[in-house]
Amino acid sequence: MTLRFASIGSGSQGNATLVEKDNTCLLIDCGFSFIQIQQRLQRLDRCGGDLTAILVTHEHGDHIRGVSMLARKCNVPVWMTPGTAAQFDINGIPELQLFNCHDSFIINDIQVNPYPVPHDAREPCQYVFTDGDSRLGLLTDAGCTTRHIEDSLSGCDALMLECNHDSEMLAHSAYPQSLKERIGGRYGHLSNDQSMDLLSRLDYSRIQHIVAAHLSEKNNTPSLARQALSQALGCTPGWIGVADQEAGLSWREIL
Ligand SMILES: [Zn+2]
Ligand SMILES: [Zn+2]
Repeated sequence: MTLRFASIGSGSQGNATLVEKDNTCLLIDCGFSFIQIQQRLQRLDRCGGDLTAILVTHEHGDHIRGVSMLARKCNVPVWMTPGTAAQFDINGIPELQLFNCHDSFIINDIQVNPYPVPHDAREPCQYVFTDGDSRLGLLTDAGCTTRHIEDSLSGCDALMLECNHDSEMLAHSAYPQSLKERIGGRYGHLSNDQSMDLLSRLDYSRIQHIVAAHLSEKNNTPSLARQALSQALGCTPGWIGVADQEAGLSWREIL
């Protein structure tokens, strides 16, 4: 079987992504309650017992809300950076694995390549996954891009990229000024345009799937995110997928 991925839901109310190869099933973040995650896993034909590991990106609530309970109830090991662990209530987690976010590691059939990102958390990272043939890159919760992010995501076969906000919509939103500055700042979230710029600088010659993620429900629309990313690739907007807050994204195979 090929490397595949799905979104359980994406946005400021909760994030979780599945990455799978044969019998190895990784859950990236769990920003949903235990009941919610069970229902949402079922939608993708999976259950907590199928999970090989949970990988955490950082300690914000929309990424960790359900991690502890899911890990405990389903006896799943949890992986995170030492900085994230320092901000996390690790009591009750059956098995905690810490990693250096510059070193890759292997969980059964999947090699995990973490990489650090600028975001207002203690030691946030994002991930590139590979089975030796294909590479899937994930990037959300980054205030800006870096050369290291570009190097990490270049040459991927599939990408899930943060399109948090449209800068105009954010500037004109009812959010308090401090929140606008946090979101738009260097340690906040990527705008559609920032994501478009990043994508245009990557080697995307192998790309099969591009999915926009972590869209703000107030300061963005799926159509604006699609437009931005499609401009970078010169493809039709309809080809760009969107990981939705409510519906997530159904399974995508990397061939
Ligand atoms: Zn965050
Ligand atoms: Zn987030």
